[in-house]
Amino acid sequence: MEQLGELELLMEKSFGEEAALPAELFQKKVVSSFPKTVLTGGMDNRYLVLAVDIVQNEEGNHEKHLIITAHQSLEYKDRCILRNDWCSVPVEPGDIIHLEGDCTAGTWIIDKHFGYLILYPDMLISGTSIASSIRCMRRAVLSETFRGSDPATRQMLIGTVLHEVFQKAISNSFAPEKLQELAFQTIQEIKHLKEMYRLNLNQDEIKQEVEEYLPSFSKWAGDFMHKNTLTDFPQMQLSLPSNDGKNNSTCNIEVVNSVDIEESIWSPRFGLKGKIDVTVGVKIHRGCKTKYKIMPLELKTGKESNSIEHRSQVVLYTLLSQERRADPEAGWLLYLKTGQMYPVPANHLDKRELLKLRNQMAFFLFHRISKSASGQKTQLASLPQIIEEEKTCKYCSQMGNCALYSRAVEQHTDDSSVPIIMLPKIKEETQHLKLSHLEYFRLWCLMLTLESQSKDNRKNHQNIWLMPASKMEESGNCIGNLIRTKHVKTVGDGQYLHNFLRKNGTIPVTNLMAGDRIILSGEERPLFALSRGYVKEINMTTVTCLLDRNLSILPESTLLRLDQEEKNCDIDTPLGNLSKLMENTDVSKKLRDLIIDFREPQFISYLSSVLPHDAKDTVACILKGLNKPQRQAMKKVLLSKDYTLIVGMPGTGKTTTICTLLPAPEQVEKGGVSNITEAKLLVFLTSIFIKAGSNPSDIGIIAPYRQQLKIINDLLAHSSIGMVEVNTVDKYQGRDKSIILVSFVRSNKDGTLGELLKDWRRLNVAITRAKHKLILLGCVPSLNCYPPLEKLFYHLNSEKLISFLFCNMKVFVTYWEIFQEDKALFSLPFHTRAVSPLASACGLYFVCYKSSAWLDCEDNFYLKGTK
Ligand code: SF4
Ligand code: CA
Repeated sequence: MEQLGELELLMEKSFGEEAALPAELFQKKVVSSFPKTVLTGGMDNRYLVLAVDIVQNEEGNHEKHLIITAHQSLEYKDRCILRNDWCSVPVEPGDIIHLEGDCTAGTWIIDKHFGYLILYPDMLISGTSIASSIRCMRRAVLSETFRGSDPATRQMLIGTVLHEVFQKAISNSFAPEKLQELAFQTIQEIKHLKEMYRLNLNQDEIKQEVEEYLPSFSKWAGDFMHKNTLTDFPQMQLSLPSNDGKNNSTCNIEVVNSVDIEESIWSPRFGLKGKIDVTVGVKIHRGCKTKYKIMPLELKTGKESNSIEHRSQVVLYTLLSQERRADPEAGWLLYLKTGQMYPVPANHLDKRELLKLRNQMAFFLFHRISKSASGQKTQLASLPQIIEEEKTCKYCSQMGNCALYSRAVEQHTDDSSVPIIMLPKIKEETQHLKLSHLEYFRLWCLMLTLESQSKDNRKNHQNIWLMPASKMEESGNCIGNLIRTKHVKTVGDGQYLHNFLRKNGTIPVTNLMAGDRIILSGEERPLFALSRGYVKEINMTTVTCLLDRNLSILPESTLLRLDQEEKNCDIDTPLGNLSKLMENTDVSKKLRDLIIDFREPQFISYLSSVLPHDAKDTVACILKGLNKPQRQAMKKVLLSKDYTLIVGMPGTGKTTTICTLLPAPEQVEKGGVSNITEAKLLVFLTSIFIKAGSNPSDIGIIAPYRQQLKIINDLLAHSSIGMVEVNTVDKYQGRDKSIILVSFVRSNKDGTLGELLKDWRRLNVAITRAKHKLILLGCVPSLNCYPPLEKLFYHLNSEKLISFLFCNMKVFVTYWEIFQEDKALFSLPFHTRAVSPLASACGLYFVCYKSSAWLDCEDNFYLKGTK
C-alpha cells in the first residue's frame, strides 16, 4: 500500500466510502493534481469533477450526483445530477466534463429528455469512429489506437475517387459529359495513380467501375437540383419542428448549392471532430412556406443500407455543424450507387445515445494504462470486450490487432475473458508469432502509450480553443491577429498558398519557422482548425503558408491565428509500425528476426562482389572526403545485407557519413557521364506508367550519354517492365512516342553541362518527341546554368506548364536498395508539391530534385519506426 500516493488511495476508494473522507482535503487534492487544467464556464464548460456519489431517489432509482467546479480556487461549486441512463457514464473524481442543458441555481440536471454530459470534451473523437463503435466498441478503440495500420483497399480507392468526382460536380455540373470528364481527371491524379499501382490495379478497370456510378449522380441531380416547379422536387417526410408547431409534415426538398466541401470541423463542445463530405444549402418547401437550411450531406459508395451506422454518422455531423452555424436538425445520406437520398432527422434520443457511446469510447481511450490488481505494476488496460458476433468479426479490419492485443496484453490482465467461439480465430491470427514477439508487442505498446500520455499529445490542440492567441503567443508557438491578404494561389493537388499579415504591427517573436506544421484557425470560436499545412516563409510582417484548403471563401477581415502542430509526440506512426511488424508477411518476419530475436545482421565478404568493377573510381572519389572511421563505416554499409548501425559520439560525423552514402550526383567515368539515381528514378517512373496501363512500346526514354543509357537498360532488364526504347536524342529524330521521359544526367556543383546538353538543336528534338506526356528529369540548379534551359524552365513555369514533383532522393534510394520488389518500392513517400492542374492536363511534368538539399523529410516510412 505504501507505493500508492495519498491521491491514488483516495481515487481507489469506492463511491460508498467517499462520504467518509474529509471532503475538503479530497477536493483540494484533486484540484492540486490538475494545476494546469483550464476551467471555464459558458460555451465550453470545463468543469472539474470533485466528487461522485450514487444516491437512490424517491422512486427507488439510482442517480449519480456530481460535485463540480469551474474555478481553480474551489470557491464556487456546482452540482450535477445524472438521471436515467446517464447514471452509467463512467465519470470519476478528477475528470473534466462539459455539460449541455440548463443550470438552475447551481444545479444541472441531465436526464433522458434533456441535457448531455460530455466526458473529456477536449478529446475530439471522429464521427466515423463513434458510428463504428455501435457494432463493436473494441474495434473503434483499436482503430483509434492503431491508426497507421489499416490497409488501403480497392474499394477505398474507388470510394475516394467517387467522393471527389461528386464533390467536384456539385459545384460544377452533373451533365453526363462533364461527369465523364471529371471522372477521367480525378483518376489521373497522381495520388490515385500511385494508389492504383500499389494495389496492382488497372486504370481502365477503375475507370469503368467509376463510370458505372455516373448515371446515378445525374439522376440525383435531376431529382434534387434542377426543376422548374417546386412540386417537382421529391417529397420527403422530414420531421423538423416547423413554425406552426406541427412536427410531421411532408415537404419538397431542393438542394440549392454546395456551401463547402470536406468541411473540417472540431467541436470541443461535444468532443467530436470530422469532415463533412458536402455541406449543402437546402430549401425545404412545406406548403407555401420555404425554409433555407445549411445541412450536412454524407456520401456513401457501398451498398445502400440506410444502416444505423450510416445514419448515426449523419446525426453526429449535425452536432458538428452546430459549431459553425444554426442547428441543421437533420442531415442527408446519399448512396452514390443508386442516387437514393435519405433524410436523417437528428432527434434528442439519437444524439443522446451517440454521445453516450462517445463517452464510453473516450473513457477507454483515456484509461489505456492501469495498475495490476496488486497495485504494483503499471500495465496496459484491457480493451472493450471481444464481441460474440462472427459476422462482424469476419469483416473487421482490426481483426489482427484485436487478436494480438488479446493474446499479448489481455491474457496477462486479471479481467480478460474471450468468447469461446473466438478462441480458435485468435489463435489462428497469432500463431505465426513467438512468445518473444508477443512480449515485444506488449512492452512497446505500453511504452508508447505511456509516452503519449506523458507528453500529452492533445494539449497542444486544446490550446487552440482554451487559450486566446494573445496568451499563446507568449510560448512562441502561435501567431494571432493575422488577416489574409487578397490573393490565394492554387498550387495544385489540394495545396493553396496563402499570405497573412499581422493586423497591427509586426509579427511577434516566435519559434515558428519555415517548414513547421501548423493549424490555422479563426480567432473567433466557430473557426477552429479551418485548415492544416505548413509555414513556407516568415518575416517581420508576413507569414506565407501552404494550406490544404482554399480560405478565400472567408471574409477578408476574419482574424486568424496559426498554431504550431507538434508532430514529434505523435505515436500513431510507431504504433502502426508495431502492428505491421507483427503481420504474417515475409518482410515483417525478416524484421522480427532482426529486431526482436536479434538475428545478427549479415554481411558480404568482399566489396568486389557488390560493386561493379568500373565503379571503383567513383567509390574512391566518394570516400576521399572522409576520415578513417567514416570510411570504415561506409565500407560496412556497402557490405551489409540487412542493416548497419552507425554509432558515434555527437560531432564525430555520422550525418556526414550517411549523407555521403546517399548522393544523387552524376558520375564521370571512362565510359562517360552517368547518374545512377536519376536512372533509378526514371525506371521507377516508367514502371508507374506501365502499371497504370500504358503499353511499353508507347514509351520512350532519352538520355544524352551512352553510359546513362547503359545503366537504364541494365535496370530495365532487371525489372518486370518489358521492352521500352532507350536511346540518344539523335535516334529519336523524326519520330515520336506517346510518352517521353528525358534524363538530363548532369548534376554537379560547378555547373558543368558538357557539350552534348548545350546543343540547343538536340534539346529541341528531345522536348518535341512526346505526343501526350513529356517528363523531364533533372537537377534544376545544375541545368539552370545553361541559359536556353533556364529560359525554357522560366517560360514553362510562367505558363504554369510545369509540375514540380519534389522527390526525397534520400528515402528513394534507401527504398530502392532495401526492397527491390516493386510493391514495397511504391510505398515510398513521393510528394507532390505544386502540381498545376493545367500541366497535368497538357501532359507535361518536370521531376526536379536537388542532390544535396533534401526537400521535405518525411519520417513516415516503415524503416524508421522500426530501426
Ligand atoms: Fe470487435 Fe470482432 Fe473486430 Fe475484435 S475482431 S475488434 S471483436 S469486430
Ligand atoms: Ca462518406
